Amino acid sequence: MKHQQLYASKGEVVTCENGHEICNLSRDVFVDDRIMVEQFENWRNQKPPMPCEVITPCKTCGSPFVRSEMPFGGTWLHINDEWRRPTA
Ligand SMILES: [Zn+2]
Repeated sequence: MKHQQLYASKGEVVTCENGHEICNLSRDVFVDDRIMVEQFENWRNQKPPMPCEVITPCKTCGSPFVRSEMPFGGTWLHINDEWRRPTA
């Protein structure tokens, strides 16, 4: 069985770059996971995007809380006031 490295845990708070709380993680996220709307819950100031919709930045200030770093793969989430680096 392939070992998956944990990236973020269920219940952690996702914030934008200015520290506004966006939502919680609804499940554990692993480094190789693609980011999906279903991974988030408890949206604060914004309506949850519909599946397949582009995830919009913070409704309050317009700062991002999710970004992709190609070509290294993986998507970064802004958690606890910092961009969490996927450690390989
Ligand atoms: Zn914000």
